[in-house]
Amino acid sequence: MREMRRGTERSVKRSYRRAKYAKYIESAAWFARRAQWEQDEKQRTGITTIFCFGGCGKEWSLNDHVHHISYDRLGNEAHVDLAGMCAECHYRLHEIVESATYLRMPRATAQRQGMRTLRWENRSQYEAQHQENSQTR
Ligand SMILES: [Zn+2]
Ligand SMILES: [Zn+2]
Repeated sequence: MREMRRGTERSVKRSYRRAKYAKYIESAAWFARRAQWEQDEKQRTGITTIFCFGGCGKEWSLNDHVHHISYDRLGNEAHVDLAGMCAECHYRLHEIVESATYLRMPRATAQRQGMRTLRWENRSQYEAQHQENSQTR
């Protein structure tokens, strides 16, 4: 019962956040924030190439997605609140962190764990492909 009430509270919060998010994500401010993120990320790593945070190995550009690791500072995000991702990895990450198991975790934990799972999936996929290729030779 308590579990259910907490669930309802959470989903109310979530739908409020979703509405706020939907408005922001269309804004010029968000567009500028993304461009700033790109600059800061290049500065941080010291290289001009940014790779998808999902670990798929694809190069990231401003045409791709930027994921919110945290919504706590929505509209005033810290660099670490954001992650450049390709569309494919981004959708998959949301699938993972919005699954029942992950929704039960604190958000920060779910995000960290979800990203780890996604990277692991990408790595195993790469290894499986690599193995297949070497077997056909
Ligand atoms: Zn996202
Ligand atoms: Zn990716």
